[in-house]
Amino acid sequence: MCGRQPHTSMHIDGSTRIVGVFGAPITHTASPAMHNAAFEALGMNWVYVPFHVEAANLRSALTGMRDMGMAGINLTVPHKVPAVGLVDNIDSEARHIGALNTIVVEDGKLRGFNTDAHGFAAALQEEFNLSLQGLRVVVLGAGGAARAIAVKCALEGATEIVIANRTVSNTEPIVREIAPRLTKCRGIGLDRPALARVIAGAKLVVNATSVGLRDGDALRLDASMFSSDQYVFDVVYRPAETELLRAAAQAGAQTANGLGMLLHQGAKAFEIWTKQKAPLAVMRRALQAAIGGDA
Ligand code: NDP
Repeated sequence: MCGRQPHTSMHIDGSTRIVGVFGAPITHTASPAMHNAAFEALGMNWVYVPFHVEAANLRSALTGMRDMGMAGINLTVPHKVPAVGLVDNIDSEARHIGALNTIVVEDGKLRGFNTDAHGFAAALQEEFNLSLQGLRVVVLGAGGAARAIAVKCALEGATEIVIANRTVSNTEPIVREIAPRLTKCRGIGLDRPALARVIAGAKLVVNATSVGLRDGDALRLDASMFSSDQYVFDVVYRPAETELLRAAAQAGAQTANGLGMLLHQGAKAFEIWTKQKAPLAVMRRALQAAIGGDA
């Protein structure tokens, strides 16, 4: 599905600035296509490279990245949370979230950011013209993506957040982080009657679990649980329409997949590294081509 990327007329020389992504696994990342298209469109002598980095090697990889003069790096599974303890300073939103997906090297120091949260809010604005202020939100999942999304909802003024996760105890650290800001925040399991009740009372439902990536791996939420005045967002972008989005659309809800979030988290990282405005249209086209044109 992800296919091979077309080769561009890339020129590498002694002045080329290097950024990239550390992850394990890393073979399916669409980020190189998105960033390299942006560099090419703006005529910048930069390159974005994926690196397979095992969890045990994150510390040395980050030190090497800095010592080799790289401009910065993205982080994906399994590095987002461990990286918090390995940088010199952290942007305040990323500190609340407790996970980093972008690091910039500034004056020999590593500064960490979380652009997933920005990507989520920007995608909601773009797809639904929706701001988080005053919303009642259900977030499905309690992993790294859910944490960024739930904390962003609280920081942006959501009035109620319910975090629903297969392992209820995994919701506790997120609820603890949000509670000082918003008392109407709690964690529940995926028990269907309870979930149906909280979804009925929500304006925005977000799937931030990895469910939906594979056929047959469903949350089993059906159209009867949604209504036409709701917004349903799925962080999964491949397939373009997950079973959850199909069910929500059947009920008349407005739906969007995670492509916009992926685009906007990348655009923000681009701007942090290069201090230049990201060419969004170029990046979106490259992303769509990289993920098989099905989103
Ligand atoms: P994590 O591994 O940190 O979290 C996975 C979450 O999914 C947990 O809440 C886990 O529950 C839940 N889960 C996994 N399998 C099942 C299942 N069979 N049934 C119910 N719940 C399940 O992953 P991330 O948070 O980093 O990523 C989650 C998804 O978000 C991925 O698909 C990732 O690709 C996507 N993502 C998309 C982004 C975008 O820009 N669009 C950005 C970042 C992530 P439990 O706690 O019980 O294990």
